[in-house]
Amino acid sequence: MKNIYFSISIAAVAIAFISFSCSKDSATASSSTTTALPDVFKKFASTIQGTSLQVYVEGNYVVIKSNGLPDHKSPYYKGTQWASSMYEAYNGSNSAWSQNPNTIASQSLVFKIPIIPSKSSSANDTPLGPMGVAINGVAIFNQYAAGRVALTSEINSFDEYNGHPQNTGQYHYHVEPTFITGNKGKDALIGFLLDGYPVYGTTENGKTLTSADLDTYHGHTGVTADYPSGIYHYHITADAPYINGVGFYGTPGTVTQ
Ligand SMILES: [Zn+2]
Ligand SMILES: [Zn+2]
Repeated sequence: MKNIYFSISIAAVAIAFISFSCSKDSATASSSTTTALPDVFKKFASTIQGTSLQVYVEGNYVVIKSNGLPDHKSPYYKGTQWASSMYEAYNGSNSAWSQNPNTIASQSLVFKIPIIPSKSSSANDTPLGPMGVAINGVAIFNQYAAGRVALTSEINSFDEYNGHPQNTGQYHYHVEPTFITGNKGKDALIGFLLDGYPVYGTTENGKTLTSADLDTYHGHTGVTADYPSGIYHYHITADAPYINGVGFYGTPGTVTQ
């Protein structure tokens, strides 16, 4: 009899402890004002060249801090502190390849993009310089070269992964980042533009898309692997304007560099 009573007492204490623990947990959760980082942002790579790619929530924004260094080899690493492990001579397929005079340099990029993107009432021009960020922390640029001229002459300086650095050494992609699509798949999440809408690769449900399949912003609304209930998203295409069309579909956040 004594043993049974003792056991019940232990059980009662255990139950009391468990319920105390639970109520404490829920109290902690409900008093917190920080929105959790949406799972899709966990696709950003954790490190680039030993420097953390930081991704966290601040108010209504996701902040992405990056040194902008590509996590793949490039002829543009030549002569840099990373050359021994990251330099490789051009081995792409462009017979008109011509290396530009710039080399890759570390950046201090801070992207602040809306956690919950919203459609803007009119198109907002994309800036020259970063208009978005790829999941490896590399800047995404628009379809123009300096002076808002077509990329025609710049394309020949894209390395084997379709990126190149500008005059401050900021490496960037204007077109399909083939290192990402090669590793993650042609239909994979590539990154986000500053308005918080995601950018996907060149295929969807097995079909290769062209600009003719997309609206003037270079996207459409539909279900994606990361957004099963559907979202507006951009696609990369092989034809111009490649990633974005007439401007941001949504209201853009900010980038500092
Ligand atoms: Zn460029
Ligand atoms: Zn799509």
